[in-house]
Amino acid sequence: MTFTLANFPQAPRFGALPPEFYTRVSPTPLPDPILAAWNADLAQTLGLHADPQAHPDLAHLLAGNLLPEGASPLASVYSGHQFGTYVPQLGDGRALLIGEHRAPDGTIYELQLKGAGLTPYSRMGDGRAVLRSSIREYLCSEAMQGLGIPTTRALGLVSSPQPVLREELETAAVVLRVAPTFVRFGHFEYFHRTGDHASLRTLADWVITHFYPECHDDPQPYAALLRKVAQRTAQLIARWQGVGFCHGVLNSDNMSIIGLTLDYGPFGFLDGFDAGHICNHSDHTGRYAWHHQPEIGLWNLHCLAQALLPLADKEALTEVLKQYQSMFEVAFSGQLRGKLGLQSWQDDDWNLVSLLLEQMQKSATDWTLFWRALATFDAEGDTRNEKLRDFFIDRPAFDAWTEQYRARIQQENSCASLRFDRMNRVNPMYVLRNHLAEIAIQKAGKNGDFSEIERLQRCLSHPFEPRDEFADYAATPPDWAQSISVSCSS
Ligand code: AMP
Ligand code: MG
Repeated sequence: MTFTLANFPQAPRFGALPPEFYTRVSPTPLPDPILAAWNADLAQTLGLHADPQAHPDLAHLLAGNLLPEGASPLASVYSGHQFGTYVPQLGDGRALLIGEHRAPDGTIYELQLKGAGLTPYSRMGDGRAVLRSSIREYLCSEAMQGLGIPTTRALGLVSSPQPVLREELETAAVVLRVAPTFVRFGHFEYFHRTGDHASLRTLADWVITHFYPECHDDPQPYAALLRKVAQRTAQLIARWQGVGFCHGVLNSDNMSIIGLTLDYGPFGFLDGFDAGHICNHSDHTGRYAWHHQPEIGLWNLHCLAQALLPLADKEALTEVLKQYQSMFEVAFSGQLRGKLGLQSWQDDDWNLVSLLLEQMQKSATDWTLFWRALATFDAEGDTRNEKLRDFFIDRPAFDAWTEQYRARIQQENSCASLRFDRMNRVNPMYVLRNHLAEIAIQKAGKNGDFSEIERLQRCLSHPFEPRDEFADYAATPPDWAQSISVSCSS
C-alpha cells in the first residue's frame, strides 16, 4: 500500500551514503495507532500538506504501518561512550530514518520514526518507545524550539494499546521526529574504533559538505570541523544552563554533530535551584548534573577529537579542545548578561552571578520564576523589591546583592522599561517542568485524553508571552512534583 504526503520524500542525502552507514529495515507494524499529537506549524514549515482530518491514515503513517511513496527506511549504526564507558555497537535501535525532505525554504530534513520496532542495533531492547517518554520527547523538543534553543523537532505522535514492558507494563508510542541530521559524535567513534578510516573520512566530508562547507577551504578541514562543532556545543550548553535545562544522559552518542538538543529521555528543568541537580535517577554519581554539563560537553568533544585523529593533526585538534573553555565562557556570559538585563559584560559580573547563585542555592529559589521576576527589579527608587526578596531565606544577604546589582545597572544607565522588555524576551515564563509533562502523561494514559499535550504545546511554543489561560503553568510546582522520578527507562 502506498501513502502520499505532498512532496515527500524528495532528497536522499544520508540515505545516499554507502551501505557501511546503515541497514535498510522496515518498521514493525504497530496495532491500532491513534493520533495523539500533530504539529501543524512544523508541517507547514516543512511544506507537508497533511491535514489529520483529510488524512485518516496519518496515524498509520506515523506508526510506520504505511510508508510514504518512495520511502526507503534505514537504521544507522553508531557507537559511543555511555556514562564514560565505550560501547562498541549502538545505533538506531528503535529509530528509523524513513525519508529526507526538502522544505520550501530549501532546507533538507531527515524524518525519523522513534519507536518503530526492532533493528539490527536494538541489542537487548524491544525496539519500542513508551507513551510516557514519547509525550515527553514530543513536548520538550517543541518547548526547546519555542525557547529558541537548537533542537530536533517533533511532527507527530501516535499511541497504541500494544503493551511494552519497562519497570511496569506500559503502552507503545511512536514520535515522528525531524532534524537536518541525526548524526552524532558516536557515528564518528564507530568508524574510528572499527578501523574503517575510509568511511570515517566519507562521514567527515559529508558533514562538512552539508553543514560546515566553509571548513573545506581551511588548510586543516577536520580540525576546523572540530572547532565548529565545539562552538555549537558550547553555545548549546550555555543555552541549556541559562534556562535550567538538564539533559540527563549526555553520552557521546546523544551529542548532535550540528549542536542540536538530541534524544530526550530523563531530562528535567530546574525547579528550585540546586547547581548539582541530577534529573536522571539512573545517574547515580551525578555525572550529568546541571553544573557538570559544560565540562561534559568538553569530555564528549575529546571523544570526537580522538575519533578524528586518523584524519587530522593531533596538535591542531588539541588546540581546538583548549579553546572550548573560553568558547563556553563567552556563550554563557552572553546568556547571563541577557538574564540580568545588562548591556555589556564585565569581568566582575561573574562575581555578581556567583553571589546570586549562592543565595539561590541556599534558598532553593525557583529558577524560572525568579529570573522572570527579576525584570521587575526597581533600580532607581529606594524600594526593597519585596517580591524578589520573598524568593530568599536570607533576606539581608539578598539585599546586599541588590546593592551591587543596582549599582551595576545604574552604571549602564539603561532605561528601565527597555530593560524589562529585553529581560522578558530572555527569561521564559513557562518551561516544561516535570510535573506539567506528568499531568499530560496521566491524562493520556488513563483516559486516552490528549488535550493536555495540545494545550501545553500551545503554551510552550511561545514561552516568553504571558497568557492568563496558562496561569497554572507559571505557578510554583506542587509538592508532589518532587516525588517524580525519571530514569533511562523509556
Ligand atoms: P538512549 O539511551 O535512548 O540514547 O539509547 C541508547 C541506545 O540504545 C541507542 O542505540 C538506542 O537506539 C538503543 N535503545 C534504547 N532503547 C531501546 C529499545 N527499547 N529498543 C531497542 N533499542 C533501544
Ligand atoms: Mg540516544
